Amino acid sequence: MNAPRTLFDKLWDAHQVVPESDTAPAVLYIDLHLVHEVTSPQAFSELRARGLKLRRPDRTLATLDHSTPTLPADADGHRPYTTPEAEAQVEKLQANCREFGVKLHDWDSDARGIVHVIGPELGATQPGMTIVCGDSHTSTHGAFGALAFGIGTTEVGHVMATQCLLQRKPKSFAIHVDGELPKGVGAKDLVLHIIATIGVGGGTGHVLEFRGPAIEALSMEARMTMCNMSIEAGARAGLIAPDDTTFAWLEGRPSAPRGPDWDRAVAHWTTLRSDAGAHYDREVRIDATLVRPTVTYGTHPGMAGALDAPVPEATNDQEHRALEYMRVTAGKSIAGMPVDVVFIGSCTNSRLPDLRAAAEILRGRQVAEGVRMLVVPGSEAVRREAEAEGLHEVFTAAGAEWRVPGCSMCIAMNGDLAQPGQLVVSTSNRNFEGRQGKGARTVLASPETAAASAVAGRLSDARSVLKTSEAAA
Ligand code: SF4
Repeated sequence: MNAPRTLFDKLWDAHQVVPESDTAPAVLYIDLHLVHEVTSPQAFSELRARGLKLRRPDRTLATLDHSTPTLPADADGHRPYTTPEAEAQVEKLQANCREFGVKLHDWDSDARGIVHVIGPELGATQPGMTIVCGDSHTSTHGAFGALAFGIGTTEVGHVMATQCLLQRKPKSFAIHVDGELPKGVGAKDLVLHIIATIGVGGGTGHVLEFRGPAIEALSMEARMTMCNMSIEAGARAGLIAPDDTTFAWLEGRPSAPRGPDWDRAVAHWTTLRSDAGAHYDREVRIDATLVRPTVTYGTHPGMAGALDAPVPEATNDQEHRALEYMRVTAGKSIAGMPVDVVFIGSCTNSRLPDLRAAAEILRGRQVAEGVRMLVVPGSEAVRREAEAEGLHEVFTAAGAEWRVPGCSMCIAMNGDLAQPGQLVVSTSNRNFEGRQGKGARTVLASPETAAASAVAGRLSDARSVLKTSEAAA
C-alpha cells in the first residue's frame, strides 16, 4: 500500500517532470502563469532577445492592476497615470500580449482586476493545479487546493519559455484550526492571529496547509484571505483542501470544466485532500474560539495582536524601531488611536463579502471628519456586483471614495498613497515602512475593523461601533 500523502505531496508529485537530486532542483510543470505589467517586461524582452516563442500562451493570462490608476478615465479616455513610466509599463504589457498571443484583460475587459482576484473569478484557478505569477501573493490561489506561489522576474522568463520551473521541494506545515470563530471575527483576524503565533518567519521553507473545522466553515473568499497572507508568515505557499464549498464556488465559471468534464474534474479534485495519517514536517493547533478582532501594531504582519490587548514590549532593536515608527506604546492597546486614512481593497480583502461587511457598518453612518476612506473593488466583476447591490451608494453616502479596480493603496505605485506620518487602517497585507507612502504608518485589519475605524475616526472594534449605534437607536 502507498504511504499516506499530504495535499502538498500530491500536487508536487503530479507536476514533477524531473525529480530533485542532491545537485539539482526538481523540474516542475506549471499549469497556469498569471502575468501583470510590473514583473513581465524584462521576461518578454528576454524571450525576444533569444528568439523564443511563449511556450504555452493558452496557459498564460494577463491583467493590468499594479500601476493602474483607480480614478476613471476622462472624457477623452485619458487615464490619470501617476507617472509616464506607469503608463509606459501598461502600454508595454499591451504590446507584449499582442506580440506573444497572450490573453490580456485590458482596460476594456469586463473581467479586468487584481491578478489574484480575477484568476479564481474566471475559473482559471482550479484545484490540483500549479500556478505561478511574478507576485508574492500568488499564494492566494492555494485556497482552491492549487500549489500557487510567487516567482521572480528571471523565473517568469523561464516559465514563459518552458512552462516549467526549477524548484526545491519545501517542507510541509499543517495549521489545524479547531473550534468556531466567534461572531464578528473573520479570516483576516484569524490569519493575523496565526502569523502572530508562529512568527513572521514561522513558515519559512514550508508550504502551509490550513485545516480543521474552522477552515472548512470558511467561504472561498475567506479562504483566499487566509492563503493570501500565508506568504506573510514567510511560507512558500498556503493550501486548503478543495471540498464542496470549492466546487460550488467554481461551477459555471467561464474557464471551469463543463458537463462530463466537470464531473470528472470533481471526482479527481475530491482525491486531493491529505490522506489520514499523512506526515507533516511541522504542525500547530490554533483554537479559533480564542481569536478576537486582530490588527498589526508594528511594521511586519507578525507584530499583530488582539485590538484590545496591550502592545507587547519590544524584544530587539527592530521591534523598538517599529514601535517608534508606528508611534505606539508598549503596555497600551492601540485601540482608540486616531486614524487618517482607511483603505478597503487589495488581493487580501477586496471581494464582494469584504465590501458587504464594510458596507454593513457604513450603512446610515458617516466617515468621521478628517478621515479619508477609499474603497477599491478587486475586479470589474466585484465592482458590477457591488453596484448591483447598491454598495457603492452606501460608501459614497458615508463619505468614502468608490474607485475603479486595481491594487491601489496596497502598494502606492499608482497614485493612491498616504502622506508621511498618516495612520492608515488597511485591509491589505503588508505594513512595512513606506509600503503605503513614504513615512505612512499602516495598521493591517479586517474590512469590519477598517470600516468601524473610519466611522469612529479611531481604531475601533466593529462590534462596539455597532453596539453603540444600537444603544443610541
Ligand atoms: S493588491 Fe497588493 S499584494 Fe495584491 S497583487 Fe496588488 S500589489 Fe500585490
